[in-house]
Amino acid sequence: MVDPNCIFCKIAQGDIPAEKIYDDGTVFAIRDINPKAPTHVLVIPYEHVEALSDADPALVAAAARCFEVAPAIARDLGVAETGYRLVANQGPDSGQEVPHFHLHILAGRRLGSMG
Ligand code: AMP
Ligand code: ZN
Repeated sequence: MVDPNCIFCKIAQGDIPAEKIYDDGTVFAIRDINPKAPTHVLVIPYEHVEALSDADPALVAAAARCFEVAPAIARDLGVAETGYRLVANQGPDSGQEVPHFHLHILAGRRLGSMG
């Protein structure tokens, strides 16, 4: 499914240009436009899947794929040894801006404690 109003669907479809630093046809990765760490990459399923709470099988598969490929992307980015944080924001209290499931890879500095 594609949501024509969704920014990540537009990037997925190529309607908004972005350099895909990883792409396997199921998920792709781009650098975050407003990075919160020296390395900040988003891993995004092509499929428009909104919230983890949908518990939709397509979402579970897409989310799993994001986690599956994140270590290889981190290795390619050169941060596998120094470490990284994987974040998936869900809902208003998390500050989620884009309601299309995605995984953040944050790295390149000591990220401090969560919260
Ligand atoms: P979230 O708050 O988890 O929904 O994260 C959405 C992220 O998408 C934010 O960190 C934004 O900086 C990022 N973002 C929004 N638009 C773009 C874009 N066109 N290209 C790259 N990153 C974007
Ligand atoms: Zn979307």
